[in-house]
Amino acid sequence: MLAPEPGPDAAAAPSLAWSPELQARLQAALEVDPLSPEATSLAEALLRQPPGEALRAQADALRAQLVGDTVTYVVNRNLNFTNHCLQHCSFCAFRRDAGEAGAFWHSFDTLQQRAAEAQRWGATELCIQGGLNPEARLNGSALAYYQALLTALLQAAPGVHLHAFSPQELLFIAEQDQIPLQAVIEALRAAGLGSIPGTAAEVLSEPVRRLLCPEKITARQWCAVMLQVHRSGLASTATLMAGHLEGPSDRAAHLLTLVALQQAAWQHQQAGFSEFVLLPFIGAQAPAALRQRVGRDQPDTAAMLALTAQARLLLGRWLVNHQPSWVKLTLAGATEALRWGCNDLGGTLMEESITSMAGALGGTIQTPQALCAAAGSLARPVRERTTLYGPVAACV
Ligand code: SF4
Repeated sequence: MLAPEPGPDAAAAPSLAWSPELQARLQAALEVDPLSPEATSLAEALLRQPPGEALRAQADALRAQLVGDTVTYVVNRNLNFTNHCLQHCSFCAFRRDAGEAGAFWHSFDTLQQRAAEAQRWGATELCIQGGLNPEARLNGSALAYYQALLTALLQAAPGVHLHAFSPQELLFIAEQDQIPLQAVIEALRAAGLGSIPGTAAEVLSEPVRRLLCPEKITARQWCAVMLQVHRSGLASTATLMAGHLEGPSDRAAHLLTLVALQQAAWQHQQAGFSEFVLLPFIGAQAPAALRQRVGRDQPDTAAMLALTAQARLLLGRWLVNHQPSWVKLTLAGATEALRWGCNDLGGTLMEESITSMAGALGGTIQTPQALCAAAGSLARPVRERTTLYGPVAACV
């Protein structure tokens, strides 16, 4: 028997309006078992709620209850060190083969200059991700290359927080060197790794991944890497890429899985996920077949705002920091998302390649002043934070 096609689940019965009673039942079910039939059915009902003021108001009230009114941001710089990649995810406009037009692989010198420059501009974090480049080796070892990269960046920008390498990249290093994942995590941590971006999750649904990114790590592998990262004492972020081929049940399964992983981390007194980031699908540069199937190039803003609210309501106390992507939504869209359950505007980034090469319209840099002004336009207090949501300073 074939697995059901992923999609918007149009045949599902309309749900009852989301009420405080349903919200309380969902949260009670999550406490018992986030993967139970009861939690799943309530989560799917929530994920089928239409965009609307009632949904927005409930999410906004829960945000205020859990984290207050203050909007946070981090001063950081993205360093996409290479776009050479051996995989071919169907939505990805970033990857290149070596030698192809637009391919790049920056030297340590260049990356050190950018890291030092970022620190002079006030960055407390470098966010480092790249393609899966099989040539990235030192003395024959992929791990040695990635360790040397972190060491070089810390030499150039002492004390900066290194937020680096997705679960996909960590597993790639282990596979390249044929060593256990735990050895990779420990070695990178010893070289200064501070936390992990929760990218490459896309949507944690095997049928959707088989269509969207069949070469990528499976949902099960993403979860296994995250469990190990958290148990090693490193925090990570959590992401969901939405607005492509997935339906409400896929989104529900993804968010419930995040709750289960957070519970596992907390049971071991680990920090687990520090924040949830919704990444709307950008398809402007995606292959024609995928664009045609999805039916749009830029996110459906109303649908993404509804999902922002639904994620806030579902994740509840398990993941309290919610961040929209200004790169994908524009800063105006991200500011609106602060009214739908978000409490963080993310980073200044200073440069961004992955989403801008996919055709996003939000730009590649924000100043702290612009982020402060965005929060201020809603009469919300604002403060700079560290990567892990510690205090830095009052707003500029
Ligand atoms: S999404 Fe990442 S792994 Fe997939 S092709 Fe692009 S760079 Fe490579």
